[in-house]
Amino acid sequence: MKPVSLYIHIPFCASKCAYCDFASFPGREGDWSRYFDALWGELDGWRPALAGYEIRTAFFGGGTPTLVSAEYIVETLNRARRMAPFADDAEVTIEGNPGTLAPEKLAAYRAAGVNRLSLGAQSFDDGLLKSLGRIHTAAQIGEAVAMARAAGFDNISLDLMYALPGQTMKQWRETLESAAALGVEHLSAYSLIVEPGTPMAGRVDRGEARLPDDDAVNAMQRLAVKRLAAAGYARYEISNYARPGRECRHNLVYWDRGEYLGLGCAAHSLVDSRRFANPAALDAYLSGVRRTGETRLTRRDAMEETVMLSTRTIRGLDLSAWRSVFGEDFAAGREAALRRLSDAGFIGIEGGFLRLTGRGMEVQNAVVLELLGE
Ligand code: SF4
Repeated sequence: MKPVSLYIHIPFCASKCAYCDFASFPGREGDWSRYFDALWGELDGWRPALAGYEIRTAFFGGGTPTLVSAEYIVETLNRARRMAPFADDAEVTIEGNPGTLAPEKLAAYRAAGVNRLSLGAQSFDDGLLKSLGRIHTAAQIGEAVAMARAAGFDNISLDLMYALPGQTMKQWRETLESAAALGVEHLSAYSLIVEPGTPMAGRVDRGEARLPDDDAVNAMQRLAVKRLAAAGYARYEISNYARPGRECRHNLVYWDRGEYLGLGCAAHSLVDSRRFANPAALDAYLSGVRRTGETRLTRRDAMEETVMLSTRTIRGLDLSAWRSVFGEDFAAGREAALRRLSDAGFIGIEGGFLRLTGRGMEVQNAVVLELLGE
């Protein structure tokens, strides 16, 4: 059977964080029921097109999927199983906010087959959490992990953020150590991106918040690599670290350009070499708009995506797979760029894979542009 992954977007949050420009809508509790009716309709509508597919991973993202009643998540999974069979070892993740968990919810997820929990922790410093507009405290992160363990979750991930206004190296070190001390299986460490139009961007523009410079940001990233390696987490992607065998299989599908179907508002898909997305606006989704901006990828698009995505991973770009997919050697016509990047210490080629070094990952965009000859 052909493998496919599911991404299911739950666009509701308790409140809006200061840095957030995701499709997330606080104060829309009155629309939960309409939203899930629309989502289930979308799921049911895909059933004929997914004949011959097997679902290998599913991911409830948001938004805050753990905010809504667990019954909505359980019924969504029931519908998904009717849409296409799940692999016996399917990875099924739900993203959650430590401030929105309860033992009954976690038990309901487990009973429905959810086997991975990804918690938005962001920081273990209460002052920074408050400035980010998070609804939870540092103590609640530990409580959430303990609650999830008690419910039987043996695969837990925490998201952390660095490069925050006012964040010191000491605070970042303590956050990394607190996260590792909880013994979770997976950690993501993302650098804050200040998105235009967010309250955080307003604070930066008005001079009320000062962002760390590039050197400080790179030092924080290096600290994450070092501290997490010492705690048993190997970096397997620019922003992701895992204990052996606990890499997020769902995200690996994105970086490997496997097929995935996105359901719900703002969800993106790559199916049959076509990319398309549902509208990011909740009201547009509720009014029935689906599958916008459909594009059939050209060979050039596929090449660019392969370079861009594979070089995010420690595994790197598989040169023999490139030859069999695109019918040419990756090095052909790129000899000078490869030499330059290798001499500068940004890339290495070994065992049939082209990989970015730690330094190369700090400037991944520039390396990718050079590899693509742009
Ligand atoms: S919890 Fe996540 S999705 Fe919701 S507002 Fe905060 S950052 Fe955005």
